[in-house]
Amino acid sequence: MVSLGCPKALVDSERILTKLRSDGYGLSPDFDGADVVLVNTCGFLDSAKEESLEAIGEAIAENGRVIVTGCMGNEADLIRDRFPDVLAISGPQQYEDVVNAVHDAAPMPRSPYVNLVPETGLKLTPRHYSYVKISEGCNHRCAFCIIPSIRGDLVSRRPDAVLREAEKLVAAGTKELLIISQDTSAYGVDLRHAEWPWKGENVRAHMTDLARELGKLGAWVRLHYVYPYPHVDQVIPLMADGLITPYLDIPFQHASPRVLKAMKRPANEAKVLERIAKWREICPDLTIRSTFITGFPGETEEDFQYLLDWLDEAQLDRVGAFRFEPVEGARANSLPDPVAEEVKEERYARLMDKCAAISAAKLKAKIGSTQQVIIDLVDEDGGATGRSQADAPEIDGEVHLRDTSELEPGDIVSVKIEDADAHDLFGVPVNAT
Ligand code: SF4
Repeated sequence: MVSLGCPKALVDSERILTKLRSDGYGLSPDFDGADVVLVNTCGFLDSAKEESLEAIGEAIAENGRVIVTGCMGNEADLIRDRFPDVLAISGPQQYEDVVNAVHDAAPMPRSPYVNLVPETGLKLTPRHYSYVKISEGCNHRCAFCIIPSIRGDLVSRRPDAVLREAEKLVAAGTKELLIISQDTSAYGVDLRHAEWPWKGENVRAHMTDLARELGKLGAWVRLHYVYPYPHVDQVIPLMADGLITPYLDIPFQHASPRVLKAMKRPANEAKVLERIAKWREICPDLTIRSTFITGFPGETEEDFQYLLDWLDEAQLDRVGAFRFEPVEGARANSLPDPVAEEVKEERYARLMDKCAAISAAKLKAKIGSTQQVIIDLVDEDGGATGRSQADAPEIDGEVHLRDTSELEPGDIVSVKIEDADAHDLFGVPVNAT
């Protein structure tokens, strides 16, 4: 399995592997040992498509028997033109098609031991953290995005199904649940926020109810892809009470009202700065992560300066940025006044500089504090790498520990912070001081 793209695609890969494992297949660590290679592709940006095509090409060259699935599967002709020998192509979430294609390409081995699959399914993440997808698709139509045309409108999972999955994961050793979707705050809209029985009570298909119940499972619960709809205010007290992780990943993408309008962003309202200030009053430990696009068509220097000033006020903890890239099929491509590449680049650099300075100051203020840290890696020289509650895996910073003894991945320890740079913290476990 070669799995590309975002955590949502990763969850799809996990689901496919789980089904195949329960059918008796094994996972090969390399191309040579595989009867067939599955490539789960990403089709979000043109650069991601190119990466997907390269991965298919590599699999063909190394193995020759290749099945393609995922977002790029919607462009079967393009794949077939370049790689006519691909065995089968399916789109995102077409699990059955992928599994059937594998059965055809590598008929099921006869084995009495086919059901030796963990209850939680097969995961591509370490045991101590797990992504949980609560819905698929999106009802918005942001001008730069083609996800709704690939994945369709919002379809939420039942809250009891999500909770059951999360409960099993926690029982199997997961210490951190990463809640993902295209639009987490919209969870349950398509189900009209109906209620389902769960542990003797009723739980609404609603982000707040789901977050509260997930919080009761005893793991860190991290909310990703949250748009600042008014009801997001209701999850902040859950964070202040320690029920869920004080962390919100809100992809703002811009701050200038003019650009946000052109982008057709959801929950685009003027009072966000006031609300952020209020959230921090209620929950001072709140970490806000976001992403921004520089050089969206029509973005003027004035719009960009507005964004920089906004960031000065918002003081976001973690920021990622992209230079605008036209995606085939996106409406943004036909907007007037494209921004020159060098201007995009220059704005990107200015944005990243500003955010690095904000991050450095925020992390410096943590020196001397004690943070809860989940251990990801332990090295042989007595050091370890982990993350505080402010850090999601892969996308945020890390905490580097010295003088650790007998720690294992997944342990959660108190760490005294001794130093900081622009993105990471450095410290020592409290019992080692
Ligand atoms: S909210 Fe916008 S960017 Fe996100 S998936 Fe939906 S349409 Fe795309």
